[in-house]
Amino acid sequence: VDTAKGANGVNGTNGTSNGVLNGEFDHGTQVIDENKEFTQTMPDYLSATHVLQAGFAYHLISVFGSQSTGKSTLLNHLFNTSFPVMSENKRQQTTKGIWMSLATDPDASSDPNKPHMASNILVMDVEGTDGRERGEDQDFERKSALFALATSEVLIVNIWEHQVGLYQGANMGLLKTVFEVNLQLFQKDKSTVHRSLLFFVIRDHIGHTPLENLKNTLMADLNNIWHGLSKPPGLETSRISDFFDFAFTTLPHKLLQPDQFKLETQRLKLRFREETPLNAKQTADGVLDTAETGVFLPAYHRRIPADGLPHYAGNIWRMITENKDLDLPTQQELLAQYRCDEISTACVELFDEIITPFESALNQKVVQENLGPSMKQALDVAISKFTEEAGRYHKGVYKRKLEDLQKKLQARLMVLFVAQLTAAHKNAVAIFADTIQKGIKRTGADFASLVTETRAAVLTDFIAEAQACSLDGMFVYTDELKAVEKELDERATRLRGEEMARLLTRMEKSLRTKFSSEDDGVAYMFKTISPTLYPRVWTLFTESVNSQVSVFTQRSTALNATEQENEQAVYNLKKRAWRVLRSILDEETKEQSLITRLMGYFDKDFRYDEHGVPRVWKAGEDIEGIFAKSKETVLKLIPELAIFKLEEEKAPPLAEFIGEAPVGVEEAAAAEEEDDEEDVTSPASAKTFTILTPGRITSLTESFNRQADQAFVDAKRGT
Ligand code: GDP
Ligand code: MG
Repeated sequence: VDTAKGANGVNGTNGTSNGVLNGEFDHGTQVIDENKEFTQTMPDYLSATHVLQAGFAYHLISVFGSQSTGKSTLLNHLFNTSFPVMSENKRQQTTKGIWMSLATDPDASSDPNKPHMASNILVMDVEGTDGRERGEDQDFERKSALFALATSEVLIVNIWEHQVGLYQGANMGLLKTVFEVNLQLFQKDKSTVHRSLLFFVIRDHIGHTPLENLKNTLMADLNNIWHGLSKPPGLETSRISDFFDFAFTTLPHKLLQPDQFKLETQRLKLRFREETPLNAKQTADGVLDTAETGVFLPAYHRRIPADGLPHYAGNIWRMITENKDLDLPTQQELLAQYRCDEISTACVELFDEIITPFESALNQKVVQENLGPSMKQALDVAISKFTEEAGRYHKGVYKRKLEDLQKKLQARLMVLFVAQLTAAHKNAVAIFADTIQKGIKRTGADFASLVTETRAAVLTDFIAEAQACSLDGMFVYTDELKAVEKELDERATRLRGEEMARLLTRMEKSLRTKFSSEDDGVAYMFKTISPTLYPRVWTLFTESVNSQVSVFTQRSTALNATEQENEQAVYNLKKRAWRVLRSILDEETKEQSLITRLMGYFDKDFRYDEHGVPRVWKAGEDIEGIFAKSKETVLKLIPELAIFKLEEEKAPPLAEFIGEAPVGVEEAAAAEEEDDEEDVTSPASAKTFTILTPGRITSLTESFNRQADQAFVDAKRGT
């Protein structure tokens, strides 16, 4: 049966007596066919009549009675159904197997305030059971009784007045069967008490015998039957009222008193109203108190959710036909397992609709937008559907299946959550590093607050994302948060280190520029070689370095450097500064440039007179004397340059100026000294203050002598 057919089956205005359905469901649906097979039409029928989604809000009743006693006629009058009825002139069986139809109440739709029948009453019309057509088919009678008992709240027993008191009558045989199969059911199921109502409708009531008397007669017969049954162990002393309630009513002859009949069925209809336990009064022997008591006591309901009814009924029928022991609690559990699985699958489909796109896009590098709310929504949708639909089934099974479903969905969400955290983590670190690098370039300034603000901002974003995906704390992210914080701090330290290193390099460069300036630097000072040269250079050195150090300290504070980092950097800066100075001094004292300078001094004395006028040597002038004096003056300058020292031969306080190596810096400092050259910043090293080694002094002196001698020779020649 396709769905289109099912949908077309619904038609509220087609004029069938049912008023709801047409086509294949004109007469309801055949649950058990004439071959005693369970048909598969019930789901479509329940769906077309909208009972499938009713949960527990439906009722199921069955009618029993001898063949051709007007059962179908009664049902059609009571419930506005259209079960086939035997025509008055040919007596043969019309109802084959078991039919089911939904009751409708025209009164309910015309005026909701008028008293009316309960909604969603499913009525089962059971094939006549006196075996006229089927022969002595006790087997089917037994099976259909068992089936009806396992499913129905109310069993209507249709009986003619003149049959009352006929203990051997066909109906009494039927009731004996009902009681027997009931005991059979309860043998397996002693824990739960399934009550049912046997509702006797006494037909063709002439009126001579009051209902009360008929009732007493029937109850006496029923008790007789009950006493006569051999009861299974444990139920020997049980009473009929342990399992059944009884209600009785009479109806006039339909053909002889048609108007009366109509009136009475309309009245009877109202007993099939929604009933509460409080309204119903029962006598001690299980007979419902007044004639007008409602018949649907909650205790009768089999608690099979409507959407599980087809499967349950099918299973029950299968167990019955296979002659297996019918164990209702087990059946309910099996049903629960089956339905919970079905519902679970449907829930996973809903979940998939929302989650699969995210799973396909799963990527640990990209933060997926809207993931958190979607995870929450998907889980909510799936779980609430399951809770609502599966929650009506066997509690133990439901709980287990709910846990299974939750675990399954959570496992899938967990994968997304973890990937999202990883991506958010990477994102946070990337944005952090990027923002800070840009920030340094833009302002070059307050690194400390830049780090603090950026850190707070990216962490806020991270936490927001993690929180959104945490399903209200179901998933935790504290470890990942710690890892992000740690990495941010490491990044900050590294960025600060890089920034400090850049700063140091800049400062070193600017010191080099300052030291090598021709205007006021070392080169300028070297123009006048004198005992005050090195003291002046030292002053230049210490003043320049100190001013750079104070600039640096300011900057490194802004970088949020630790005391130790700052000390280390200052220490390094001072050492580097000295190396720079030393390299410039080495440059200035290279042999060629030094010779040029010395020759300049020499020339000033030898080639020019005291007025700065070039000498023109004449014969007889004291060339030798002037030469010797000039040479001597210059040669005295060389030792002045040899050692870097302050006034009165004092060594410069370089070690004090650089200061002690900060704790823990030895290694770092050692690392800086990678080249195996001797450390020129260590006062212990001979090289630190030695600008000219004795060897260089000798070669310098020789070189100078050669050039000076040449000047002498030239002068001599000139005369
Ligand atoms: P079922 O086999 O029990 O379902 O009986 P039907 O509803 O098909 O009716 C069988 C015959 O009994 C039909 O010919 C009806 O007209 C007739 N019938 C229906 N209602 C009554 C009634 O109240 N009294 C009597 N005597 N006959 C009835
Ligand atoms: Mg019938």
